[in-house]
Amino acid sequence: MKRILVTGGAGFLGSHLCERLLGLRHEVMCLDNFFTGTKENLLPLRKNPYFEVIRHDVTLPVHLETDQIYNLACPASPVHYQRDPVETIKTCVHGSINMLGLARRTKARILQTSTSEVYGDPEVHPQTEEYWGNVNPMGIRSCYDEGKRCAESLFYSYHREYATDIRVARLFNTYGPRMHPNDGRVVSNFIVQALRAEDITIYGEGQQTRSFCYVDDLIGGLIAFMEQEQTTGPINLGNPTETTMLQLAETVIRLTGSSSKLVFQPLPMDDPKQRCPDVSKAVALLGWEPRVSLDDGLKETIAYFRQRLG
Ligand code: NAD
Ligand code: UDP
Repeated sequence: MKRILVTGGAGFLGSHLCERLLGLRHEVMCLDNFFTGTKENLLPLRKNPYFEVIRHDVTLPVHLETDQIYNLACPASPVHYQRDPVETIKTCVHGSINMLGLARRTKARILQTSTSEVYGDPEVHPQTEEYWGNVNPMGIRSCYDEGKRCAESLFYSYHREYATDIRVARLFNTYGPRMHPNDGRVVSNFIVQALRAEDITIYGEGQQTRSFCYVDDLIGGLIAFMEQEQTTGPINLGNPTETTMLQLAETVIRLTGSSSKLVFQPLPMDDPKQRCPDVSKAVALLGWEPRVSLDDGLKETIAYFRQRLG
């Protein structure tokens, strides 16, 4: 049994990760400031005596004893990370420094959940780990993109300077139950709109692409990556099946049987035109690959939102 710290553990991915780690019989400490995370996400876990919740902001130092750290704390939806961009940068940078300091002191292995956003609006397709990216350092997404890029730099600097035991995973768009109805990301927006028979808001012409990974697949990849000894990364984790936002909207309408209409709204600044991971490194090194199809994952997610929205 390991004692594992999950920062951002009350969020969408964090709560699933805590649950999976508890299922593997580890002791789990969830550290969160509840900026976008909720206590409801943790309800299924609270009876487990090996589960603890710590209300804390990662931008402030913390002293804990831990064997492993998964650093997830950071709002992930553009709507939320752009709400307080300075705080987003502090969370990425100061948060990483604090968690790396903790890892250094306790000799814990630490995994950073980086993002496909480090590739920006990519000129290489699909994106491989070797690609350095195309990020606008001044744009509205830069608080997140550059914050996450700086975090990667901090992880590799701690590794070189102090031999800190790091793992850097670049996560691509992931969806599933426990996304917040007001999260603002596309999958939850479309499902909530479809279930409420509201207009489905497509930004731009809907021809931009993303590749959506179901949460259970992603969590399996994260843990496999943390546990392997061959590489610090960076490693792409995501589902390589690419879809346009128009196709996603049509699929959500079909699976919900909704009467919603599509409406087109302006495309936000610097919205990446295409995104698809090359996951060959993860497949080769982790023996991992995503298994859940978009239809099956959306069905699970729709069932969750149906229940949640009543
Ligand atoms: P989320 O917004 O649901 O969860 C983030 C969690 O971090 C929340 O519980 C929030 O309250 C917490 N948090 C934010 N700032 C904090 C701070 N300063 N101190 C402590 N806690 C703080 O988002 P998510 O989708 O679960 O994403 C988790 C991580 O994975 C993020 O780091 C995100 O950048 C990364 N990621 C996610 C995706 C995805 O598609 N879900 C893709 C790429 C990267
Ligand atoms: N998007 C959309 N309608 C919405 C929300 C998002 O068309 O209601 C688009 C958005 O412009 C982007 C894609 O869906 O092209 C994915 O957006 P999301 O915010 O989920 O994540 P991103 O990958 O952009 O960080």
